[in-house]
Amino acid sequence: MVKLSSRGSSRLKSGHVWVYRSDIVSSDGVPPGAVVDVADERGKFLGTALYSSASQIAIRIISPNKVDDLPDLLQKRIQDSIAYREPVVRDSDAYRVIFSEADFLPGLIVDRYNDLLSFQVLTQAMDSEPLRQAVLSKLVERLQPAAIVERVDPRVRELEQLPARASGLVHGQKDSTVFSMNGVRFHFDALLGQKTGAFLDQRENYAAAQRYARGEALDVFCYQGGFALHLAPQCSKVTGVDSSRSRLEVAERNAALNGREVEWIEANAFDLLRDYADAGRQYDTIVLDPPAFARSKRNLETAMRGYKELNLRALKMLRPGGVLLTCSCSYHVSEGDFAQMLTEAAGDLRRPLRVLERRGQSRDHPLLLGVPETGYLKCFIIH
Ligand code: SAH
Repeated sequence: MVKLSSRGSSRLKSGHVWVYRSDIVSSDGVPPGAVVDVADERGKFLGTALYSSASQIAIRIISPNKVDDLPDLLQKRIQDSIAYREPVVRDSDAYRVIFSEADFLPGLIVDRYNDLLSFQVLTQAMDSEPLRQAVLSKLVERLQPAAIVERVDPRVRELEQLPARASGLVHGQKDSTVFSMNGVRFHFDALLGQKTGAFLDQRENYAAAQRYARGEALDVFCYQGGFALHLAPQCSKVTGVDSSRSRLEVAERNAALNGREVEWIEANAFDLLRDYADAGRQYDTIVLDPPAFARSKRNLETAMRGYKELNLRALKMLRPGGVLLTCSCSYHVSEGDFAQMLTEAAGDLRRPLRVLERRGQSRDHPLLLGVPETGYLKCFIIH
C-alpha cells in the first residue's frame, strides 16, 4: 500500500491520475513497477495504481476500484480504446490506437500505420513481461497486424531505470508499409523516423489546411511532407522547408507516391524565413509546425521569442487575404500564451488578424479532462 499526503490525495480527487514522489508519505516494501493500493494519510482507499520507483511520477492511477486481474483489465481497456476510435477516425488507416493516460492505459502508446502497429512502453509496470504479453496478444487478436514494432526511447528507459532494450519487431516480420490519411499516401518505415514515425496528431489539421489552401504555399518544418502533400492538390505551387535532409528524402518519395510536385528546400527555417521576408517573397498559404521549443517551464520565455520571430516573419510574407496555419506542440505553451504571442505579432505588424479556427490534436489523441498534460497541440488558422 502507498499512502499519500493530503496534497497528493486532493490531486487525485480533482481528477488527475498522477502523484509525484514528493506527495508520497509511505511506500515501504513496494517493488518497482508494482500494482498497488493507494490510500490517503488516514488509510482511506483512493484507487489502484502502477508504481514507479524511479520516475518523479511515482503513482499512475489505473482504476478508482480494487483490481484483481490487471492483464484482464488492460485487455478490456484496449478493446475500449479501439471502440472509441471507430466513429472518430475517418478516411485514414493511420491513427493512434492507445494514448496512455487518455485511454486509461498509463505508460502505453500504440499507433497504427495500415497493417503495422508501433508499440511503446514508458513505465516500469507496463514493461513487465505479463503485461507486455497481455497487451500484444490483445492487439494481435483485435487488429490482426502484419507486424508489431516496438519503439524504444532509451532516455525514458534510463529515467525509469529499466534495462536497455533495442527497437525492433515483437510480432511478425514486416517493417515497412504505405498508409493513407485523408486520401494522401505516405511511406512508413517502422524502424526509422522520430516520435513513432509520423505526426498522426496533425491528421485532422492536415484536412483543415487543405480546406483553406490556395495559390502559392510554404510549409515550414515540413518533415516528411504531411502538410505540403495535403496543400498540393489545392495550390499552384508548394514549397516545403526542413533542416533534415533524410526527412526531405522521404518527403520526396511521398510526393512521388502521390504524383505531386513539391519544391523541397533543406534549410534552417529561421534563416530562410528571414531571407525570404527581407527579399519580399509573398505566399497565399503558409504552415508553421516547428518542433517543441519549450521543453520545460524554465525556457518558456526563450521559446515564446522563437515562436514570435517565426510567426512575425511568416505573417509578413502573407499576401492580403492569405492564410497562416500555425502550431505549437509544447505542452508548456498554453493556448492563451500562443494567442497572446499572435496578438503581439499582429500589433507589431499593424495588421488585423482573424482566427478562422482554433484547433488542437486529432481526436485519436484525446484530451482527458483533469489531466492537462494529455493536451499539448495548439493549431490556429489565421486570416
Ligand atoms: N509538420 C510536420 C512535423 C514537423 S516536426 C508534419 O506534419 O509531419 C518538426 C520538424 O522540424 C522536423 O522534421 C525537424 O527536422 C525540423 N526542424 C527542426 N529544427 C529546424 C530548423 N531550425 N529549421 C528547419 N527545420 C527544423
